[in-house]
Amino acid sequence: MPTILTNLQTVKQRIQRAAQSADRSVDEIRLLAVSKSFNAHAVIEAAEAGQYAFGENYLQEALDKMTKVRHISPGLMLEWHFIGQIQSNKTRLIAQNFSWVHSVDRLKIAERLSEQRPPDFPPLNICLQVNISEEETKSGVSLTRATKIAQQIAALPRLRLRGLMAIPEQESTLEQQRIQYRQIKALYDRLNDRPDLMLDTLSMGMSADLEAAILEGTTLVRIGSAIFGKRKYVS
Ligand SMILES: *Cc1c(COP(=O)(O)O)cnc(C)c1O
Repeated sequence: MPTILTNLQTVKQRIQRAAQSADRSVDEIRLLAVSKSFNAHAVIEAAEAGQYAFGENYLQEALDKMTKVRHISPGLMLEWHFIGQIQSNKTRLIAQNFSWVHSVDRLKIAERLSEQRPPDFPPLNICLQVNISEEETKSGVSLTRATKIAQQIAALPRLRLRGLMAIPEQESTLEQQRIQYRQIKALYDRLNDRPDLMLDTLSMGMSADLEAAILEGTTLVRIGSAIFGKRKYVS
């Protein structure tokens, strides 16, 4: 049975190999361990293997897990990233309990997070979620609206806009995966050319397609099943 430790080593080797073929330094690529559906013990096991940044999709599940982790391992310093869909009545608890939010796709949500970020905390790190498929059902702002919303978010006082996040359509070939990631990278570069935006984070790439994302310039991959195993629930 592979353990979280050996899975983490395998994922890091994949990152290293992809970085090498992209002629990039592995230091440019952060690994976010997506622990949704896995318990506090799994998080602690990953932390003991050297992983400290964790991504969660569901607020209540995440808060329960944080409490348990603190109870079992009081000294452990972890960095929590919220990557799930955000309802406006959940923003206060997100602003109070996370260091990063990757899934901001409306100005109203960003305004609430800024207002509700405790004043004695460092600014909340934000990625704007973009949707390149332009499908109505998907979350994320369209490419055409991204610039305006990015500027508006960057102007909010308690937030720090770090970059973009994307969850592309599932594609089966590396080439197809790369096409979508390339479009997001192009938008990221365009935004970063603006004097009012200083972005350093491109959050894209998951267990099935991290190689494509690295080849196209991602700086943060969000990896769940390749580290923790198959999830019991879908999403
Ligand atoms: C679940 C999830 C991931 C991780 O997906 P895997 O395929 O298990 O690596 C990454 N990003 C988001 C937004 C997710 O919801």
